[in-house]
Amino acid sequence: MSKRNRYRAIEIEDFPLGERSNFWRDLYQDAAGSMVQVPFIVARGELPGPVLGITAAVHGNELNGISIIHHLLDELDLSGLSGTLVCCPIVNVPAYNQGVRCFPDGLDLNHVFPGKRGGKPAEQYAHAFVSTMLPCLDYLVDIHTASEGRLNTLYVRVDFADEVALKMATEFNAHILLHGRGGDGTFRTAARRRKVPAITVEAGNPSVIQGRMVYDGEIGVRNVMKGLGMLEGSVQTKRHPVLCRRSTWLRTRSGGLLETHFKLYQLVTKKQLLATVRDPFGQLVAEYYAPWDGVVIGKAANPAAEAGTRFCHLGAVQELSEILSDPELRATTV
Ligand SMILES: [Zn+2]
Repeated sequence: MSKRNRYRAIEIEDFPLGERSNFWRDLYQDAAGSMVQVPFIVARGELPGPVLGITAAVHGNELNGISIIHHLLDELDLSGLSGTLVCCPIVNVPAYNQGVRCFPDGLDLNHVFPGKRGGKPAEQYAHAFVSTMLPCLDYLVDIHTASEGRLNTLYVRVDFADEVALKMATEFNAHILLHGRGGDGTFRTAARRRKVPAITVEAGNPSVIQGRMVYDGEIGVRNVMKGLGMLEGSVQTKRHPVLCRRSTWLRTRSGGLLETHFKLYQLVTKKQLLATVRDPFGQLVAEYYAPWDGVVIGKAANPAAEAGTRFCHLGAVQELSEILSDPELRATTV
């Protein structure tokens, strides 16, 4: 592919109606001078409708989303689809090949979007990716997992002030919705700045494919598609998600063998014992308690915990009306 074509935006009209097209795009040149190819799938329905982007493996070791995309496309009848799916099952190909989170230059790709044409290696890659995928999208679902050493629930990060994105998140049928504007450098923020409503799905654990997460994730994406009018049928929701305006990772202050006394998704109450740490002789050296009533979003996977280890990702549970009336939230609305 010529250099001129490297950053050419995907044009939906280039792809046939009622067909799925698998293709690679050259986005970046590695140190050997080879082009790094990134896989894309355009699945055009036979009926008119919006364009939904689905991305996975922005972090190279976060694999559940790849399988969610595969299962979703396997089951999809394009004759009944209104609109188009544009999927990138592996965004961060260099990191995926190494089985790691970050780009080979050490940068977190999800901190450098929308990238920079003349920037650092990860920034140039992000720029090429954004220029290729974002222009054709009306909506985005970006699928992640926990980072290494941590276990995640199925939850959705979304800006509660963005009504369309909040509807997508609610219909996804996740256990937990966590408010967040996305932060500088995330792909979700890059989308939002282009007026593309977007959610980040956090589906389980890194470096594995988890059947249950893939099953629930596929139902979630199909629900989003139904909500956007892309598929017939009613949205399948099994639960009212727990809403969190904010969350924090609780950390140990002393090193030792960590034992947690809570489960993922568990609602905990203020001052409830969450974790204990013992020294190599088995003596209790620390106890950690919940600082507020909350829900467990994620936890440490490894009991060998140095001081400062994140052991519990705790969300502060609130009612939606309470969250939306928060002046700070309104002040940050774009
Ligand atoms: Zn991630």
